[in-house]
Amino acid sequence: MSTNHSWTRFIFILVDGSPYQVFNDLVQDGTLPNIKKYVIDRGVFKKAVTAFPSTTGPAFIPFFTGRFPGPANVPGIRWLSKKEFQNPYRFRSPGICSYMGREALSFSAHLPDSPTLFDLFSPVNNIYNLLTRGCPPSGNLTRWIKPLVYTYAHFSERWKFVNAIASRKLLKAVKGNAEFVMCLFPGVDTFSHLSHTRSPDAMDIYREVDRTVGEVCQILQASGDFDNTLIMIASDHGMSNTHTHIDLPSRLDSLGWRCLHYPLLWRRHARSASMVSGNGMAHLYFKGGEGDKGKSTSKHQEGWGGRVSFEKLSRMGAIEPLLEIEGLAFVAGQSEDGGIVVQDRNGIAEITCETETFSYQFHGADPLGYGASYQNLSSRDALIQTYDSKYPDGLVQLWQIFQGDRTGDLVLSADPGYDLRARYEYPEHHATHGALNAEQMFVPLAINLPIETEFIRTVDLFPTVLSQFGRPVEPAQIDGRVLR
Ligand SMILES: [Zn+2]
Repeated sequence: MSTNHSWTRFIFILVDGSPYQVFNDLVQDGTLPNIKKYVIDRGVFKKAVTAFPSTTGPAFIPFFTGRFPGPANVPGIRWLSKKEFQNPYRFRSPGICSYMGREALSFSAHLPDSPTLFDLFSPVNNIYNLLTRGCPPSGNLTRWIKPLVYTYAHFSERWKFVNAIASRKLLKAVKGNAEFVMCLFPGVDTFSHLSHTRSPDAMDIYREVDRTVGEVCQILQASGDFDNTLIMIASDHGMSNTHTHIDLPSRLDSLGWRCLHYPLLWRRHARSASMVSGNGMAHLYFKGGEGDKGKSTSKHQEGWGGRVSFEKLSRMGAIEPLLEIEGLAFVAGQSEDGGIVVQDRNGIAEITCETETFSYQFHGADPLGYGASYQNLSSRDALIQTYDSKYPDGLVQLWQIFQGDRTGDLVLSADPGYDLRARYEYPEHHATHGALNAEQMFVPLAINLPIETEFIRTVDLFPTVLSQFGRPVEPAQIDGRVLR
């Protein structure tokens, strides 16, 4: 791959919620002629694996910082910090968060203090993306209208109108002088949730994105920038259609683990919390971790303690009833020895990591279905060995999500066809993401750069793009690597 190209501009188009398989079919059947002609035919079209949880917000972090959501300590679109949370919940209480509403404005503040793409290019423009760290307010072209149009579209379902604004803003930005333009198209995700991943409305959004890419490239040709503009089109997560909603909080309630969950955050005497993302995954938090004794300094500060080990949760009787839930792929937690335990109805496994190499051992049936134990695989080899499987990159992804203290005691992943939220979701979701499975983890990558490898994580794109612009980052500061 050429590394001495003199790029002068970078355009990143994120088609929120586009699954690799759907995008690939549309490239093949000629529905996306501009993306094919102007981007893929001058570079590549690849299948990339996103970060777990495969959900808007956390899955943006790899693109912009080169970090996984776990080490970045933003492990879900909703999370709870056992360290900071106070129960009963009070308005503006710290330690519990959902980026779905007003708190989307806090997303960038919750990220670790490391540079983003917005810090590393200048000038920059941002359209609709909620990760705005490093983007000056004047460069954030939708900062005033996004809350209004998103709220309007959420209740009216008029997402084509919202998407059309993204197209207009993108064309305007490309006519300007920004070195880096980031544009998120929201319609595929929202229309897929409303019906299914190939709904006619979602297809209209794909066609509009493609038309806009054509216009963008004509503007670049007219200005003489075309050959020197790196264009990357990708998605933050895939999606699969949903037939069954699992009512996780009700299950926990009935098991005696009275459960806090959005929007019921004021429940008293809660003993567990479910923070769902996408809605194919959930973090479960249990009261009673080590270190909570003596910390109850007032009636408002009932400590939730530290992370409860998988072994202790098993002894507390919390694991077995979860495994019986139809549609739940697996539960994962942290072992007393520091490893990550994964269990389903038929088997149990442990992922360990020593000196940056990963090992995997299972007992009974392999819960991740790899059918092999692994010893001391590099992160790269762990990706390659598990790429074309039901749980792509499962070893590293399950390891990374537990590297932050906002991660649940348990992480649950649903099977395709199921999600983990049966109530309080308006409008009802008919398609799902968030889980670790192939349908929701594989995303399309179209880029006018000849990348050779077939094994790509979205976290690799940050260092890859920066190296193209001659701005390499220290490998020790990120989780990705430069793609060749
Ligand atoms: Zn979504």
